[in-house]
Amino acid sequence: MTKIKVFDVREDELPALEQWKAAHQVEVEVELIESPLDIEQLAQLADVDGISISQTTQFDSAFYKVLADNGIYHIAQRSAGYDQFDLEAANLENVKISNVPSYSPQSIAEFAVTRTLELVRHTAQIDRNMAQNDFTWNLNLQGRTVESLKIGVLGTGRIGSRAAKIFKGFGSEVLAYDIAPDARLKDVVTYVDSLETLISQVDVLTLHVPGSKENHYLINEAVLKLAKPGLLLINAARGSVVDTQALIRSLEDGHVAGVAIDTYENEGAYFRYDWGNRELEDEILKALLKHDKVLLSPHVAFYTDEAVKNLVDIPLDDVLSFIHTRQAQNIVNP
Ligand code: NAD
Repeated sequence: MTKIKVFDVREDELPALEQWKAAHQVEVEVELIESPLDIEQLAQLADVDGISISQTTQFDSAFYKVLADNGIYHIAQRSAGYDQFDLEAANLENVKISNVPSYSPQSIAEFAVTRTLELVRHTAQIDRNMAQNDFTWNLNLQGRTVESLKIGVLGTGRIGSRAAKIFKGFGSEVLAYDIAPDARLKDVVTYVDSLETLISQVDVLTLHVPGSKENHYLINEAVLKLAKPGLLLINAARGSVVDTQALIRSLEDGHVAGVAIDTYENEGAYFRYDWGNRELEDEILKALLKHDKVLLSPHVAFYTDEAVKNLVDIPLDDVLSFIHTRQAQNIVNP
């Protein structure tokens, strides 16, 4: 019987994990462990054939040798990001890391569109008015149709292309900028030649570029000054793509009319944790939270049943594949 240990197990992963276990019960014994793969757990791998983890902090480079000594040459990480791993150190021990590069692009695209609709139809303001028993037809509730808006998509990869298609379905005109335009989208988007052109022409700009070093603060003060007045900005990409303080200034001076932020540049200490009544230390986050024109969410654009199932199934399938063939679909250090 093949034995797999799954570490960092979260409650929300349990249904998908139990399903995978049941589907493979004849050949695989799966042990689910809440704790991370730490020194104590490392000492208990002698009879284990494969592991999956969901590491969020730096992975200890000394662990690769211990894994190799136990005959484990593959770590299946249950996320897209893998900068927690020192690939050079892993390579020295011939340990392969796999990730889940894409778990549900549709989920993120749909969330970006949802937030656009909320901004366009002022649903947060409607909710605030209802909470005050204010049933009047205030001008601040008067919306627009998405169909009438020009949408800008920055980055037309897996997620951006899907967002573009959904907006196209509303009947909107969709413009896009990508450093590598996709010819397959010729009936969906009209590519423009720069971010500057894009932001100056659209009513809504939705960001779907990676949070790479090159893309740090792509949306900055100078770029925001070029925006068409009244711009709505959606960031479900990476926090580092936006200079949040510059964005708040654009909201204050009315140049930008509304924003939806699912990824925030300093989210690490906050998103996914319940801060309850504790005082937040981040002044920028506090400003976002109390701003009427900001919709904030804690990096949940991806968070659907489908995405969680893929985040569980794909790594476990990779573990099994690696055990049998020494190969897996998503190895990041082949
Ligand atoms: P992808 O690699 O499929 O597509 C990214 C696209 O951006 C590519 O077409 C690339 O050519 C383009 N690009 C890169 N830099 C650019 C630039 N400076 N200007 C214009 N275009 C540029 O990526 P993806 O899977 O679609 O992911 C997009 C973003 O969504 C990433 O930042 C990812 O981290 C983020 N994401 C967010 C969530 C969430 O829950 N909020 C979940 C998963 C992914």
